[in-house]
Amino acid sequence: MRRQRNVKIVATLGPASNDVATIRALFDAGADVFRLNMSHGTHDEIAARHAMIRTVESETGRPIGILADLQGPKLRVGTFKGDAAELAEGARFRLDLDPAEGDASRAQLPHPEIFAALVPGAMLLVNDGKIRLRVDDCGPEHADCTVLVGGTISNRKGVNVPDVELPVAALSPKDRADLEFACSLGVDWLALSFVQRPADVIEARELARGRTAIMAKIEKPSALKVFDEILEVSDGIMVARGDLGVELPVQDVPPIQKRLVRKSRAAAKPVIVATQMLESMITSPMPTRAEVSDVATAIYEGADAIMLSAESAAGAYPVEAVQTMHNVAVSVESDPTWREIITASRRIAHETVADGIVAAAREIAETTDIKAICCFTESGSTAGKVARERPFVPIIALSHKTEALRRMCLYWGTHCVATGPVDRFKSAVINAVRAARDFGFAEETDQIVVTAGIPFNVPGTTNILRVAPCDERLIFRAEAE
Ligand code: PGA
Ligand code: MN
Repeated sequence: MRRQRNVKIVATLGPASNDVATIRALFDAGADVFRLNMSHGTHDEIAARHAMIRTVESETGRPIGILADLQGPKLRVGTFKGDAAELAEGARFRLDLDPAEGDASRAQLPHPEIFAALVPGAMLLVNDGKIRLRVDDCGPEHADCTVLVGGTISNRKGVNVPDVELPVAALSPKDRADLEFACSLGVDWLALSFVQRPADVIEARELARGRTAIMAKIEKPSALKVFDEILEVSDGIMVARGDLGVELPVQDVPPIQKRLVRKSRAAAKPVIVATQMLESMITSPMPTRAEVSDVATAIYEGADAIMLSAESAAGAYPVEAVQTMHNVAVSVESDPTWREIITASRRIAHETVADGIVAAAREIAETTDIKAICCFTESGSTAGKVARERPFVPIIALSHKTEALRRMCLYWGTHCVATGPVDRFKSAVINAVRAARDFGFAEETDQIVVTAGIPFNVPGTTNILRVAPCDERLIFRAEAE
């Protein structure tokens, strides 16, 4: 089994995709990585989904990535008399710490640390930004606001505070418990919501103790200000357009998406474009033209992965949504303009020997008739560098580490193959040739590029490149000479 495209597809699981047959159908339609959203579902439900994905993995014999997504410090109002209240434009509205049920004049906001950080003029956005409140006056236990945009406010609706860097811990007690739980399941990626500073990522990394890769979700203006520093300490990035489009004017999201994709790619770290990609497919078997265009844009930009949220978790057409993403990817990636854009946005790195080797591998592969770039990778870092080159031949990443193979499922254009421990370059070449032929990338008369690091089994040592024939007899003959 091999995919006929480079961009990867992440599908969120939920009630609409809660059995092995559906997860298998999502995989067959093109899902490379599954996302477990820790904001919904009990630990038992999440553990069951995790086990179902691993069942599909062993059925298909292909590594599958699992991404657990922590809820993060999401702020919420309290409850209301009759569950809801109407806020009229221009009215005064108070937020305070009183747990009594709210009404049209006040409600609880059970976060003293927010009151401490608020300043007059700050904006509070309720219910995905549908209601806008401006803070006029505030103290340690209250904020008096003017309703700029009114509407219905109801129990436990989310509150965003875009203008203020919030002095809240990146990980709530629930997040800490979820992090430990996700690590104990053995997830491959852990996504952190509402990251504000590099320290947030570092804190999660310390708690994870190497058990998972860490992805920062970019959805706060404060994160954008220190994006380079966050990227530096993260293993991957998610452009979380849902909350980003609430915290910032929605028209700012496209340029931010472009910038984050380019920067992540330049750092050889995988980047996911997420949220509302095929939103209408929650209820319709056909996407809108605008959604198809949005998916295509992310692919033209060279994102590593595109993501489905409610479409695959709670929608009526989860498999069709994955199929749609796959079809759009195949169409875009066969467009000569896509190649031009990807080529024009390449950033060649000149820092390490591995950077030079992978750039040479891509160059050779595109100069002569090479069928694949096969790289031996211990931690996945060399495969990330090959993927950064965005070569127009398939990348085969070979590793003896299951965790690395699963993690690399997110990398652009990377086909992951398990290999036994390799101690000599000749056996590495033979393993690469077999993988390329077994998965239909090459035939006996073809050639591939192989990169590896000697000594073997040491991360970050890539220092050798060979153009190898796919005929094993020729390899043995060459070695004998
Ligand atoms: P969420 O993150 O779905 O967990 O909110 C994605 C986003 O905000 O876009
Ligand atoms: Mn979000």
